[in-house]
Amino acid sequence: MPLDIPGARHLHSGKVRDLYEVDGGNLLMVASDRISAFDFVLTPGIPDKGEILTRMSLWWFDQLSDIVPNHVVSTSVPERVRGRALIVEKLQMFPVECVARGYLTGSGLIDYDANGEVCGVPLPAGLVDGSRLPEPIFPPATKAEMGEHDENVSFEQVTATIGAESAETLRDLTLRIYARAEEIARSRGIILADTKLEFGTRPDGTVVLGDEVLTPDSSRFWPADSYQLGRAQPSYDKQYVRNWLISTESGWDRAGNRQPPSLPAEVVDRTRERYVQAYEQLTGESF
Ligand code: ATP
Ligand code: MG
Repeated sequence: MPLDIPGARHLHSGKVRDLYEVDGGNLLMVASDRISAFDFVLTPGIPDKGEILTRMSLWWFDQLSDIVPNHVVSTSVPERVRGRALIVEKLQMFPVECVARGYLTGSGLIDYDANGEVCGVPLPAGLVDGSRLPEPIFPPATKAEMGEHDENVSFEQVTATIGAESAETLRDLTLRIYARAEEIARSRGIILADTKLEFGTRPDGTVVLGDEVLTPDSSRFWPADSYQLGRAQPSYDKQYVRNWLISTESGWDRAGNRQPPSLPAEVVDRTRERYVQAYEQLTGESF
């Protein structure tokens, strides 16, 4: 799976991205065109996805630069991965997935319907699928080992793992970033329902925003013009692919835990269109 890139030593491959170490101790973070759903990497990839998401992340890092420093060093990368890779600072990552949710849906909705709360945060009665929460919440998760599911944890568990000071810093940064991003996205007709961020530290202890940020792979983006309370929202993320996989048309049995079938060309095209549309609508630039 890793590419042969001159001057780069392969370190790690996630489902979607590959990390290499380059001269000077920095990292080369390559976003592939791979797409994952239900924790499977699907075939084929989505053309241009890696480049779209890389450009979107860069755009967001800029929008957030007065709130938090980020890991981007340069966009000058080896020719082979041009446009879909970044040179980034190698950080000591916190083993925490920093999630912010401003809207109720998905697993949060299931939690709420059963307990009236989401990850231990009590919420008012009467909320439905798609409701905006009175205030955005920070329901963190642990970073799972390769192949495992991330697991929700309480704020106290985060404190126990990384210390109270760091836990509070991550929570405050996550909520500030979410508030800023939600406002920007809203002004462009996109509802940012939730997102997942990762932070790390420099050797001097500075907390830095790493990984990818505010892409449809790490966030739920809903087109504001089709937003309707009380149902699952159409979205710019992988929902389209997920819906196809669980439809009878795909013939895939989710419970069977087997590799899903290849995506038909039409599903690939539609999915690519959605990524492009999200990018263009958000940044106002054409891809
Ligand atoms: P998956 O997403 O498939 O569950 P993963 O999160 O390990 O697995 P990716 O998201 O593809 O894989 O890879 C990115 C990895 O790089 C993550 O482990 C992330 O924590 C790490 N990372 C991101 N930015 C930095 C950085 N600046 N320094 C060190 N590690 C980083
Ligand atoms: Mg990841």
